[in-house]
Amino acid sequence: MKSPFSYKLYNCAHCQCQFPFEKVRYTNDGKRLVCLDCYSRLVKSDEFLKREQQKKGKIDAPGPGILPDIKLICVDCRYKFSWKKGSRMGIACPYCGGSHLMNDDTTADKLIQEVSDVNELRLGRMKYKKYL
Ligand SMILES: [Zn+2]
Ligand SMILES: [Zn+2]
Repeated sequence: MKSPFSYKLYNCAHCQCQFPFEKVRYTNDGKRLVCLDCYSRLVKSDEFLKREQQKKGKIDAPGPGILPDIKLICVDCRYKFSWKKGSRMGIACPYCGGSHLMNDDTTADKLIQEVSDVNELRLGRMKYKKYL
């Protein structure tokens, strides 16, 4: 003859329901007693969090497979842009489509000066055309 009170019931710390001992487990930190359902859910979410963190870590730290951008300048129009090494796109100036490109090895100051000069020239020409 079985009585429902013949064994002790334990409170699940998660869902607050009562369960016999064989239906409860201690959490990984050993501080809480939870039922098997809650335990498997907690473990799953733990693993999920860990995986998410690992993914994030991989993105934060660029691996050896990620190649840096190559800085290029279009010789024709002086447009400065970066090109991903290994990209399937051919190397061409995105501004004028020109293929006369050189590595961006000039100093930043000089570049900014050059680029703003070109922009001013271009703007000036556009204004000139507009008001002709
Ligand atoms: Zn529970
Ligand atoms: Zn160009």
